[in-house]
Amino acid sequence: MNRIYNFSAGPGTLPVPVLEEASQSVLEFQNSGMSILELSHRGKWYDPVHAEAQAQVLATLGLSESEYALALLGGGASLQFAMLPLNFLGAGQTADYVDAGEWGAKAIGEARRVGTVHLAGSSKTTNYDRLPELTPSGNARYFHLTTNNTIEGTQVFALPKTGGAPLIADASSDIFGVDRDYSQFDLIYAGAQKNAGPAGVTMVVVRKSFLETAHKDLAPMLSYQTQCEKQSLYNTPPVFPIYVLGLTLKWIAAEGGVAAIAARNQAKAEAIYDALDACAPVFSSCVAIKEHRSWMNLTFRVATAELEKAFLAEAVAAGMDGLPGHRNVGGFRASIYNAFPMAGCDALAALIRDFARRKG
Ligand SMILES: *Cc1c(COP(=O)(O)O)cnc(C)c1O
Repeated sequence: MNRIYNFSAGPGTLPVPVLEEASQSVLEFQNSGMSILELSHRGKWYDPVHAEAQAQVLATLGLSESEYALALLGGGASLQFAMLPLNFLGAGQTADYVDAGEWGAKAIGEARRVGTVHLAGSSKTTNYDRLPELTPSGNARYFHLTTNNTIEGTQVFALPKTGGAPLIADASSDIFGVDRDYSQFDLIYAGAQKNAGPAGVTMVVVRKSFLETAHKDLAPMLSYQTQCEKQSLYNTPPVFPIYVLGLTLKWIAAEGGVAAIAARNQAKAEAIYDALDACAPVFSSCVAIKEHRSWMNLTFRVATAELEKAFLAEAVAAGMDGLPGHRNVGGFRASIYNAFPMAGCDALAALIRDFARRKG
């Protein structure tokens, strides 16, 4: 197996032991005589896979099954932008949203179809180069934020005061990667494909007391109550992505859980940020405030277009893929999710230092 350093923003790097076990199961799942891809989603082989993955999501977040319900859904985090207001917002009701990046802006667009959005803060006028100051409305149905702004490279480390509103998070790009008190949230959603598995499954974790307040008159596929009551088996679930999510969560547990992964993520990010800071003005971070810099997506620029081209060519030659920034932002973005190895961060940091020494 030839592994390069994959800095892709998503789908992202998965742990090698997970890939090995999953590839074996594609040929034959345990002793079933069948591939994982061929198993009925209502049968004795898949039942425990499903139940374990569901239980592991809550356990990894440190949440209890008595307090929280869960659904594993298709449709990506983007479907959650729409499902959340459909379930909890009504005409004439207000939800608070933080406008700190493109994904948050998309979530806001979906909420506006259903009800009124109060912008609790926005950093749009500075191209989302920082996290905004926040002012909750004080009468919101819920308060929505994106914990990590994948495209812009900012991350929320201290959870905000919501003025009493239930706290909702799009944690697609930092779930299981930061050691948070997840019980502060009433609902957390995250696509698996950045930090926890392949594309195709999205985790939705919701406090049961909050879930009870959801609208009842929805199409069942769009109803959190139905999806949670049916244990994500209202229809055929994304069997293979759920299986790989379960394997990844077992890997996280074996590595020491979220606390250990988070400590490693911080060290990985610091190795690269230290190099960027030491190599100004050839390199510069895109984030204006140091405390807002993400551990997961590190956005940076090289001083001139010519140097940018040269740096990219050297990175590719050194076996580093996926570094160009999002098409709307430009520059570079190193996405170093939970399974991305420290060695890859050290290699990028070394290249940054070496490049600046030669070109600076
Ligand atoms: C990637 C991403 C999304 C979109 O996820 P899809 O699964 O492609 O719908 C939404 N929010 C954040 C924060 C993301 O990083």
